Amino acid sequence: MSTISNEKYEAVIGLEVHAQLLTKSKAFAPVSSEYGAAPNTQVTPLCLGHPGTLPVLNENLVRYIIKMGLATECSIAEKSIFARKNYFYPDLPKGYQISQYETPICFGGQIKIELDDYEKTIGITRIHMEEDAGKSIHDQDPYHSLIDLNRAGTPLIEIVSEPDLRTAREAYHYLTKIKQIVQYLGICDGNMEEGSLRCDANVSIRPRGQKKFGTRTELKNMNSFRNVERAISFEIERQIELVESGGEVVQLTLLWDPNKLETRQMRSKEEAHDYRYFPEPDLPPIIVSQELLDDIRAELPELPSIRYQRFVDQLGLSEEDAYILTETKALADYYESVLNVQDNAKAVANVVLTEVLRVLNDRSISIHSFTITPEQLGALITLKLDDKINSSAMQKIFNQLIGSDKDPLALAEEMNLIQVSDTGFIDPIINEVIESNPDEVSRYREGKKALIGFFIGEVMKRSKGKANPKLVRERIVSELESGS
Ligand code: ADP
Ligand code: MG
Repeated sequence: MSTISNEKYEAVIGLEVHAQLLTKSKAFAPVSSEYGAAPNTQVTPLCLGHPGTLPVLNENLVRYIIKMGLATECSIAEKSIFARKNYFYPDLPKGYQISQYETPICFGGQIKIELDDYEKTIGITRIHMEEDAGKSIHDQDPYHSLIDLNRAGTPLIEIVSEPDLRTAREAYHYLTKIKQIVQYLGICDGNMEEGSLRCDANVSIRPRGQKKFGTRTELKNMNSFRNVERAISFEIERQIELVESGGEVVQLTLLWDPNKLETRQMRSKEEAHDYRYFPEPDLPPIIVSQELLDDIRAELPELPSIRYQRFVDQLGLSEEDAYILTETKALADYYESVLNVQDNAKAVANVVLTEVLRVLNDRSISIHSFTITPEQLGALITLKLDDKINSSAMQKIFNQLIGSDKDPLALAEEMNLIQVSDTGFIDPIINEVIESNPDEVSRYREGKKALIGFFIGEVMKRSKGKANPKLVRERIVSELESGS
C-alpha cells in the first residue's frame, strides 16, 4: 500500500472463523465425523434429510463450544436455541443447515493479540454452533461434479469478531491466536490447509478520523494463514485505489485466488442469500446449568497466555523463548515432560529450541512425530550438565537417538564419547606430553602462553578425545606454572 493512501485511510476488518470440532461423531447423528474416510461412508438417513429422521444433539458439541466461550471470556447463555438456515445447494441434501441465529450460546468475549511492538484486545461478538454441509468435488471427473456427504452434519463453531482489526497483520495474529486456543483446548486441530479452520474476512476502509464504517466486502476461500493476510492486504489496497480514483466500494463477496494472488467477484448484494432463518422445531432449547459450567471450567487446561507467563516468571525463561515454547500445547507439554527428568529449565529450553526444532523444521514434522522421548532427552542433557560428555558429543548422540530407543548413556559408551574426568587417567598423559615437548615447555614458561592450545590438543589426541577438556586445561596450566 502506498504510504500516502495509508496515512489517509484506515482499514476496518472483522473475521468470521469456522472451526471444525474434534468430536467423535456428528453434531446431530450417531455416525463418525472423522476426517479422511472414503467418500460417502459416514452418512446416515438423517444426514440426507430423509423424512421421519430426527436430530439428537451431541453433548460434546455443547461442552466444546462452552470451553471456547470460557477461554475467550464470553458470557454463556443459560438458554439458547437452534435455528434453520435455509438454502439450496447440491451438497446440502436437507435444504437447510442447523445453526444458531438470534441466540448464540456464547457472546461478548475477547481475545488478546500480541504484535511485535504492541498488544491489542479484539472483541468477540458471538460464538455459535452449526453443522457443516457436504463437499462438492469438481476436479475428479471430466463431465460431472461429485459429492461427498461425509462432512454433512459435522459439528462446527463459528467465532465472529467485532470489527476491531485494523491491519492485515492484526488479522493474521488474531487468527493464529484462535488456532492456538482451539488446539490448547483440544477441540479442533486448527489446520487451515485441511479446512478444519476456515476464515471469511469482512473488509472496509474509511478516511482516518471518520467514525462511521465504510461499505464492506467479504473475502472467502483463503486456505492458509499467509493467504488471509495477503488477501486482506490486497483488498484494502483495491478499495483505496477504487475510492482514490473516484469510485465507490459496493458490497460484494470475493474469492481469493491463491495462484494469481488476487480476488475475484463471487456474488453481489443483489444475489445475496436470504436464509429465511426460523427456530429449529425438532430440537429443544439448550439449557446450560451452573453445574455444567463449573464442570467444564474445571476441565479447562492452562491457557497459552498463562502458561507463557509462568514460563517467564517461574522458570526464568526469556520472553522470546517462552513465546516459542508455548506456541503449541504439544511443544510446551514436551518441554515440561523433559523438565520432569532434568529440571534445569534453561538448559532444556536451549536444546528444545535449537536441536529439537531444527529436526522438526528439517523434516517438516510436528512434535507428535518426534521420536526422542522426554526421558531420553532429559537423560542426554543430564550427561552434558554432569560433564560426562561435551557439546559436540551431545549433538552426535542426539542425532543418533532419533529413531533409536537406546539409553543415551549406553549410546555414549557405545560411541566412545564418555568424557573422562579422572585425574588418574589424565595426569599421566599430561606428563607424557610435557616430557616429549621440552622446547614448547620452556617457551611457554618464558611467556608464550598461547602454546596452551598446543598442549591441550596433544593431550586430547593422546586420550583419543575422551579427556574432559576443561579439566585438561586446568591440570596443564597448574603443571606448567608450578614446574620450573
Ligand atoms: P453477516 O451476517 O452479513 O456476515 P455480521 O453483522 O454478522 O454480518 O458481520 C460479519 C462480520 O463483519 C463481523 O465480523 C463484523 O465484525 C464484520 N463487519 C461488520 N461491519 C463491518 C465493516 N463495515 N467493515 C468491516 N467489517 C465489518
Ligand atoms: Mg458473513
